[in-house]
Amino acid sequence: MSRILDGKWVRDEIQRECLPRVRKIVAQAGRAPRLAVILAGSDPGSEIYVRNKVKVCQELGIASEKLTPSESVTTAELLAAIEELNRREEVDGILVQLPLPKQAESRAVLAAIQPEKDVDGFHPVNVGHLVANRPGLRPCTPAGIMELLRRYEIPVAGRRAVVVGRSDIVGKPMALMLLHQHATVTICHSRTSNLAEECARADILVAAIGKPALVRREFIKPGATVIDVGMNRLTDGAQARSLLAGAPEKLALFEKNGSVLVGDVHPAEVALAAGAYTPVPGGVGLLTVAMLMVNTIAAAERRLGLCSA
Ligand code: NDP
Repeated sequence: MSRILDGKWVRDEIQRECLPRVRKIVAQAGRAPRLAVILAGSDPGSEIYVRNKVKVCQELGIASEKLTPSESVTTAELLAAIEELNRREEVDGILVQLPLPKQAESRAVLAAIQPEKDVDGFHPVNVGHLVANRPGLRPCTPAGIMELLRRYEIPVAGRRAVVVGRSDIVGKPMALMLLHQHATVTICHSRTSNLAEECARADILVAAIGKPALVRREFIKPGATVIDVGMNRLTDGAQARSLLAGAPEKLALFEKNGSVLVGDVHPAEVALAAGAYTPVPGGVGLLTVAMLMVNTIAAAERRLGLCSA
């Protein structure tokens, strides 16, 4: 019987632990930690993500503000907005919701954020801290996965970990975090030969690919822990019926709603082989925002000199 790793439980634990830290900041600094979010343009997905981030801030007593430049915003205008947020003493965290409108240079914009306020952990200085395993703000999704592994007491040291995906946001930082916890790490990507074979060696398999149900039963070593980062919305009937033939519950959801959210791991086959796995939805997706809150609080604590972490 494989165990479902419940992202909601982990999220609730993480967020519960945020509360006393926020209270301490308020008590000692006389103000709440503050997150500023820049949401440029009107991408509907981004709007939902930002609304959720603001809502969780409210629940935890973190102050937040939203800047909403138009779709036509220039790189120079975004740089000026970030400069202002960098300068403001009471702003602890700055988040630029991606993707930016196409004319804006994301790299330049992200690099302009003061590293101490870079709560997404994408600034080159924080990337460097991660590579060197020094304290710094870490990318939220892989940091959330490490929290999940820790809280479920899944051993990492000495284990063979395979990360599929090498993005700057998930795959690469994930591999580094597992490495720092002493896993033996392999990174796979679209040019990897024998992907199934590489994956089948993993005690811990992390799929961060963006391809629905790509990871099948034969990719999974019996008893392995499988972490599914993928968030893929299936809207095509033929694709859904072919991919989800063995997953009647998902297929029923598709037939009912006309779309269904599927991870990078096959939703039914994972349970046949894995020792433990994260579901989609209800797994990793819930942890990213929780870790953003942790990063905002940590940024405030460091900036206010309230902790040495
Ligand atoms: P990217 O598109 O940036 O990266 C995808 C990676 O997967 C690339 O490294 C790519 O390889 C690799 N890849 C693509 N196709 C294959 C294949 N057929 N075989 C092996 N490797 C392949 O995606 P992200 O890292 O940003 O996101 C990955 C997934 O995670 C997406 O579904 C995304 O929606 C989800 N996500 C979920 C989050 C959450 O909070 N749960 C947060 C962030 C992302 P190559 O480098 O060679 O192109």
